[in-house]
Amino acid sequence: MEIDQFLIIGFIAVFAGAPAFLHLLKPSGAIAAFFTGTSIWAGFGIKGLFLLGVFFITSSLMSKYRSQRKEKLGELHEKGSARDWAQVAANGGMAAFAGLANVITSDPVWFIVLAVSLASANADTWASELGVLSKQQPISIKSMKRVPRGTSGAISGFGTAASGAGSLLIALTADFLFGLGSGWTLAVLLLGLTGSLLDTLLGAYLQAGFKCSRCNLLTEKTTHCGEATSLVSGFVQINNDAVNFISCFTAAMMGMSLYNIL
Ligand SMILES: [Zn+2]
Repeated sequence: MEIDQFLIIGFIAVFAGAPAFLHLLKPSGAIAAFFTGTSIWAGFGIKGLFLLGVFFITSSLMSKYRSQRKEKLGELHEKGSARDWAQVAANGGMAAFAGLANVITSDPVWFIVLAVSLASANADTWASELGVLSKQQPISIKSMKRVPRGTSGAISGFGTAASGAGSLLIALTADFLFGLGSGWTLAVLLLGLTGSLLDTLLGAYLQAGFKCSRCNLLTEKTTHCGEATSLVSGFVQINNDAVNFISCFTAAMMGMSLYNIL
């Protein structure tokens, strides 16, 4: 192994480890981030790492942005703000898979999978992290009624705009790094946005929703007020991480199909 390869692996380790000290990642999340970074670097080199870095840094900043105000919404979410391995795998797993796949069988289609899955993950992260700060309460796509900010399966104009901006940033960065061309840049933007919308749909119809029997709070948490909550909607096996992974995966598969058709 060359000395500069050691340096890069060290760099990935620092980048994956530092957020754990800042309480952005749990230790399991840092380990998953290290494997994700290493796989992407192995498949796509420094440029791939740079694209991952854009997702990782901007979504971390979004999470920290006005975090005190978001803490009030913490009741709703299954997990706190520090990401564990499942959250990292849900957002970066497809990109890591594309990196390993490109090592085994080099093919331009893996660049599309990398770009689309990161665009989808970024669109979804920006939508949820910025959308909760919207002045207006979002509308549930299931009931068409206004619901509390941060509810899965609900949309707002502000959140949708944030989603489009998140996808656009990844599409433009991927074009800059890999020369996707205008057609594929547009495709990555639209597929990233599609992934984020799919995330909302699955969040509304499939994701487990619970209710606390003591305080009647609707939550994604399996326990509240020191007691187990009861399932009121969706499937108990499908949490937010599963929904994120399925939507990233589906968007990436749509990108692969499009690549094979064209
Ligand atoms: Zn409660």
